[in-house]
Amino acid sequence: MSGPAGGAVADGRSQPQPVAVELPGAVAYFSDRRGGVSEGPFATLNLGLNTADDPARVRENRRLLLAAIGAGDRTLRWLQQEHGADVWCWQRGAAPTERADAPRADGHLTASSRDALLVTTADCLPVALAGDGLVAAVHCGWRGLAAGVLAAAVTHFTQPPSAAIGPAIGPCCYQVGPEVAARFRDYEGAVRGDRLDLRAVCEQQLRSLGVRRIAQVAACTACDPQRWFSHRRDGPATGRQGVVVIKRAGGA
Ligand SMILES: [Zn+2]
Repeated sequence: MSGPAGGAVADGRSQPQPVAVELPGAVAYFSDRRGGVSEGPFATLNLGLNTADDPARVRENRRLLLAAIGAGDRTLRWLQQEHGADVWCWQRGAAPTERADAPRADGHLTASSRDALLVTTADCLPVALAGDGLVAAVHCGWRGLAAGVLAAAVTHFTQPPSAAIGPAIGPCCYQVGPEVAARFRDYEGAVRGDRLDLRAVCEQQLRSLGVRRIAQVAACTACDPQRWFSHRRDGPATGRQGVVVIKRAGGA
């Protein structure tokens, strides 16, 4: 399946053009900067309420993204992400979340095709998991990977799920200190000099958890300022892209 029809809409603005990745009974949509209403450093499709952007614009961007993927009737589920290893399981029919009561966690799961799971990133890896009639979205930076957030999510599946790993800062741009590099030396090819390859760590962790099918949207967020937000490149005044994971209605 390709992404939803992109390009200009009637008022000349572009609309969101996320990359769609098929998973068993689910689809993961990885967004980029295109197609929102935010301006300046948040232009245009900033999905992060944890930024200095106007929250009304962020909410409109989230609405536009859901509409673009044909999920406008779903309940958007999101988290207050903390770079930890906690995951949240949504109960069927749970009330929509306001800003202050969003769960504090870095991964979440649902068995409902009425939900749309969002995690937001600006260099960290957005990861989608699906299988067994369950879907998950996980936010993975080096802290979360070191803390075991992927294992915490995968353990909810009765069989190892399929995975999709989205855009994140690449080893071309991700310089880390020796104390961070030291945590990942056991992963093959993950540390080269002072550069860390988060994607390699993520993939090796998933494989060690039994995940066999791993799709990649393998862009470096820091390399392309036109397409991606990057905290490392731009500092605190930047937006968030992310992944929205939806379970197909009637999907296995
Ligand atoms: Zn790069």
